[in-house]
Amino acid sequence: MVTGAQTAAWVSRFRDRVHDGVDQLTALDRATGDGDFGQNLDDALSRAVPVVDALTDPTPGEVFAALTDAFLDTGGTSGPLFGLWFGHLAKAAGPRLSAAELAAAVQAGTAAVQRLGGAEVGHKTMVDALVPATDALQASNDASVSTALSAAARAAQVGTDATADLVAARGRASYVGERAIGVVDPGALAVAWFFGAAEGAA
Ligand code: ADP
Ligand code: MG
Repeated sequence: MVTGAQTAAWVSRFRDRVHDGVDQLTALDRATGDGDFGQNLDDALSRAVPVVDALTDPTPGEVFAALTDAFLDTGGTSGPLFGLWFGHLAKAAGPRLSAAELAAAVQAGTAAVQRLGGAEVGHKTMVDALVPATDALQASNDASVSTALSAAARAAQVGTDATADLVAARGRASYVGERAIGVVDPGALAVAWFFGAAEGAA
């Protein structure tokens, strides 16, 4: 089970990881798009974390609701997509989240992102990390949340690494064609960082 306090620590670690890596995300989005992704993500998380910190004894769902609001207020293609995804995690009820509940919420969020954005695995988007992370969470349903999240983080990183070999079929990166080969998708990398940030926090 993951508590609201652990979820808040997880989000805070994610913010720190993104803040440290913002130049890397900017460079990746510059090579495959327009270069605003790092700033979009950093802005959303910088707005969400103080809101989370101000919550008294929050549930995991309340923590994810703060993230949802911040992402839905953020520009770029990724803002609404992450907002939609976190919106499904925000539906989690109760003071603790089990591995099975987390897997179901992530599955619903990933399906919603795919419906809205139309991306499949192999299109060089965040979906290349979201789908393997979802599969890993579902496969470790019976494990502890921290074991399940570690598996999700590893799977998301493998999916992210694989995007380097791809030509994009969705988003701005699809406009640069073969020039994006050798560059990982920044949205996928952010998903890997999100799950990686759970380590030590859940
Ligand atoms: P923009 O391209 O509008 O500047 P951002 O820079 O905010 O958007 O986000 C870029 C990221 O959004 C990409 O790295 C990719 O992961 C993700 N993305 C773009 N289009 C889609 C899509 N159709 N479905 C899923 N993810 C997408
Ligand atoms: Mg961009």
